[in-house]
Amino acid sequence: GLRPLIAGNWKMFHGGGTGLALAIDCTQIAQRVPHVDLVIAPPYTVLAACSHECEGKRVALAAQNIHSKDKGAFTGEVSGPMLVESGCTWAIIGHSERRQLFGETDASVAEKTAAALQFGLLPIVCVGETLAEREAGETLAVVGRQVRAFLDIILAGAGTDKAVAIAYEPVWAIGTGKNAGPAEAEEVHAAIRKWLTEKSAELAKRTRILYGGSVKPDNAKALLAEPNVDGALIGGASLDATSFGAIAEAA
Ligand code: 13P
Repeated sequence: GLRPLIAGNWKMFHGGGTGLALAIDCTQIAQRVPHVDLVIAPPYTVLAACSHECEGKRVALAAQNIHSKDKGAFTGEVSGPMLVESGCTWAIIGHSERRQLFGETDASVAEKTAAALQFGLLPIVCVGETLAEREAGETLAVVGRQVRAFLDIILAGAGTDKAVAIAYEPVWAIGTGKNAGPAEAEEVHAAIRKWLTEKSAELAKRTRILYGGSVKPDNAKALLAEPNVDGALIGGASLDATSFGAIAEAA
């Protein structure tokens, strides 16, 4: 299988000294899990400082968002080249909080995915259905629409070797303590793999499909054991080195 990718999305937590301390703890975790790719996504304000601590220590940095342009009069936004300068190699794109609270759409997610690839960042593109959509039996239709919105962009921008990631994060599982069951997650992951394969078998083989939504030390192993679950995108449990480390060790 693919090398597991374990990513911590810190959201709007741990700026300043606590963030720096957690990044240093993550470099210790990385030593214990040589078979795992570890990524952390701190707030913008501590990216450069965390990057300095993580340099050469097998912890990669991700941005939590990206603007689609390289520069310009876009107050409050941060561009791909700036993120690269700050030490990022990854960018989380289209997180459900961005879609629900900040007006991001399938179209803006596609633009941002193209920008990330253009400026040298690997995207972790997020998709997932709401509870109402799941209960209406629309999960695969919704996730399929979200994935198809950026598949051509990835196909065009990832060349023959860029290992991008797609994160399946059911909205009802985020921050709720209610994770998708392993079989429930696997059903959607297998569908995503199929849609990727329909575009390019080779792309499908190198794309890691992460599960996110209430991943904790006690449910990580079962989720990560599913054949199409290649890693995890972790919110709350990534804010503490003990739980993040335990999840990485389960991979
Ligand atoms: P939780 O792990 O806190 O449910 O958050 C998941 C998430 O949104 C990661 O991007």
